[in-house]
Amino acid sequence: MPRYVCAGCECLMTHERSGLLVEERTDEDGPYKIWSADLWRCPHCGTELLTGFGAEPVHQHFEEGYEKAECYLVIRDRTPTGEDDA
Ligand SMILES: [Zn+2]
Repeated sequence: MPRYVCAGCECLMTHERSGLLVEERTDEDGPYKIWSADLWRCPHCGTELLTGFGAEPVHQHFEEGYEKAECYLVIRDRTPTGEDDA
């Protein structure tokens, strides 16, 4: 089992769940892929870490049943643009 550390709290994170479904959206926020991942959490500050993604997605947007999958969260491209820098 891997070990993850919360850098802010300097403690080991705890494994919460395996096989959690998460949806990856396109740059235009359209449906793209659904992945299975593991959820870890810091017992002190509650910071969550998603890791353990497989090599292949569980579903892709063109496959049947994609829209019915219940996902824990959505992955969006949030690359900083620098516009918010003061
Ligand atoms: Zn923490």
